[in-house]
Amino acid sequence: MKKILTSLLLVFIAFSLEARELRIGLFYESNPSRVSVDYNIGRFTFFSEKQTYQTLSNKSDKIVFIAEGDKVTAYFNNKTIGTHVWFRLENNSELNSLRWSDGKITRPYLGSFVVYAIKGKLKVVNEISIDKYVEGVIKGEAGYGYELEYYKVQAVISRTYALHHQKHKKEGFDLCDHTHCQVYKGINDRENIAQAVQETSEEVLVDSSLNYINTLFHSNCGGNTVTTDFVWSKKLPCMESVKDTFCLNSRQAKWKKTLSKNSWIAFLSQYTGKPASYFSGKKLDFEQVERKQYYSVGNHKVRLVDIRKKYKLKSTYFSVYEIGNQIVLIGRGYGHGVGLCQEGGIVMSKTHSYKEILYYYYQDVSIMSISKVEYYRLF
Ligand SMILES: [Zn+2]
Ligand SMILES: [Zn+2]
Repeated sequence: MKKILTSLLLVFIAFSLEARELRIGLFYESNPSRVSVDYNIGRFTFFSEKQTYQTLSNKSDKIVFIAEGDKVTAYFNNKTIGTHVWFRLENNSELNSLRWSDGKITRPYLGSFVVYAIKGKLKVVNEISIDKYVEGVIKGEAGYGYELEYYKVQAVISRTYALHHQKHKKEGFDLCDHTHCQVYKGINDRENIAQAVQETSEEVLVDSSLNYINTLFHSNCGGNTVTTDFVWSKKLPCMESVKDTFCLNSRQAKWKKTLSKNSWIAFLSQYTGKPASYFSGKKLDFEQVERKQYYSVGNHKVRLVDIRKKYKLKSTYFSVYEIGNQIVLIGRGYGHGVGLCQEGGIVMSKTHSYKEILYYYYQDVSIMSISKVEYYRLF
C-alpha cells in the first residue's frame, strides 16, 4: 500500500498542475469499482505508469476501468490493456472532453484524468482549470434563469470556496464532486454562466490577512442573517449579522409548522432534564422579532439550532404560539442564515452589482485576483 501511495505521489508530482488548476474527485457518492469512458470531443493520450497506449481519438473508442484492490485493470475497446497502479488520459487541447460513466450517471467532462484504486474502489480525478470547474459548479448548484450579476456572485463564492476547502488531499485530490464539497456536474453549456465566470476570472474573497474566506451561504435568511456562533460553536470573521429586506417576498421567506403540545413538552423535558409536569402552566410562547440564539422557557434555555434539528425545521428564525393542544411555529427563511442569502442576492442582482452584493453579505473582505493574493503573500 505504501509503495502504491508513493507511486501515486510521484505521478502527481510528475504531472504537477498548472497554476489555477484543481483536482476534482468524480463519482464521490457512488464510489464505484467500475467506470467507463467514451470518446466525446478531441484526442486524449492514454498511458499508465508503465507505458503509453493508443490515443483515444475515434468516436467508437471506449475504455473500461475496474478496481482490483489497490490496482486498476483497463480494457481498451474490449481488449485487456493490463493491471497498473494508475492510468492517465491527457487532453491534447483545453476544448477536449470525455464522457464518463459509473453505470448510473453519464456526463462529459473537460480537462485531463487520472484513474487509480484504493481498497477496491476507483478514484477518477479530473484535473481542470479553476474557472471551468466553477462553471460546472454554478451549473450544478445555482440553477438557471438568473441575472448575470447573480451568477458573478456565485462565481466568486464558488472559486473562493474551492481554494478555502480542500478536504481530500489525503485521497489525492482537492475537492469531491458532491455536496460534501461543491456539486460539480462537468461541462457547463449555459452562455451567461460562462460569461459570469469569465468576467470575474481569478476573483476571490479574502479577509484582511489575505486568507480565502469561508464563503458560507444559505437559501433565505428571513430578513436577518446570523453570525456563525449562533449555528456552530465558533464565531468566524467576515460574516456579521445583517438586516436583509431583499428576500422578504421570496419563495422561502415564510413557513409554518404545527406540532402537538405533548411532543413539544416531551422534547423540553428530555432536553432540560425536568419532568414534563414542570412545564404545565409555564409560558411556552416565544417571540422572535430579531434573531435569537435560544428559546427560553421558565429558567431554561434551549439552543434554537437543537430545536431546528429535532423537528427538521427550515430555519431557527421562528416564533412559538401555544394554541389549545397545539404548538404553532411561525417561521422565516430557509437554511442556517450565515453569509450570503441566495434569494436576497437574486433580488438584489436586478439593481445592484455583484460586488455590492458580496460586500453586503460579507464584511471586512476584499475582492481580489488570485495572482494578486499570491503576490502580496510573498511579503
Ligand atoms: Zn468532498
Ligand atoms: Zn435574506
